[in-house]
Amino acid sequence: MTSSAPHQSVFLRDLRLATAHNLVTRTGGGDIRLPTDTPTHYLQALIDGLCELSLRDPLTGLANRRHFRTVIEREIDRVARSGETALLLMLDIDHFKQINDTYGHIAGDMVLQSVAQTLSEGIRPMDTLARYGGEEFAIVLPICPPHQGHTVAERLRQAIEATPIRISSGQALHITVSIGGVFAPQWVRSTTPLWTERADRQLYLAKSAGRNCVFVEDPPDSTVSAEEKGLLFSHLPHIDIEENDANDTASNVNTEAQRQVITP
Ligand code: GH3
Ligand code: MG
Ligand code: MG
Repeated sequence: MTSSAPHQSVFLRDLRLATAHNLVTRTGGGDIRLPTDTPTHYLQALIDGLCELSLRDPLTGLANRRHFRTVIEREIDRVARSGETALLLMLDIDHFKQINDTYGHIAGDMVLQSVAQTLSEGIRPMDTLARYGGEEFAIVLPICPPHQGHTVAERLRQAIEATPIRISSGQALHITVSIGGVFAPQWVRSTTPLWTERADRQLYLAKSAGRNCVFVEDPPDSTVSAEEKGLLFSHLPHIDIEENDANDTASNVNTEAQRQVITP
């Protein structure tokens, strides 16, 4: 609890909790039981359950866009402070409207669930996969080496293409996705709209190129010139800028003192 929170007694009987209680216990995965030992435990579990619900997409169980925005902002901050890499992928199911139109909305929902599952299995635990919109997914991949960006995206594309989806009629649907990807600019504090717009542009290129393909923007050139190093580190007495090779990459510029230069 923050120190600014008022210290007054709250009685459960004064609160209207039925809707929240039902939401958490019935939509939170089936048989969730809220603790009843103390009012404080009950209320805390109820709040935790509501927070969890507010961050998840109910159809696929993935992070929703709200959660994803928080993750992306955290990642932008990390990249700006550490100079490490991060890849953002935007994925869109190809011709998804046709699936709904041909097989019905429930089949469409099954496709969304299957794609979510396949993508989840193809990423690392440290990556965050979200349902970004209707049939759009987004993934943030921290510390993804620039030369592997295209390979990672291509692997996901192939996994989707290779996974037939059996719908309730027994038919197996074969679907594809288009993927656009961009790296966050290292050492620079980007913004969520800028980063996602750049990824969207790559996704648009993939769609325009005929779909079922991957466009990952070349990673930004993170070379720090001698002049830039001078601007960054000249006030730090123990760093001899002249001795450093002008072609050092930013990832080599990572002592704690140097990191602090870009720490707001
Ligand atoms: P493109 O290859 O250009 O991406 O074409 P598309 O048909 O995939 O794209 P479009 O934007 O024309 O259609 C997206 C469809 O996704 C339309 C919408 O009804 C459907 N959709 C959005 N959310 C859901 C959902 O939760 N369930 C189902 N079944 N369909 C959804
Ligand atoms: Mg779309
Ligand atoms: Mg689509």
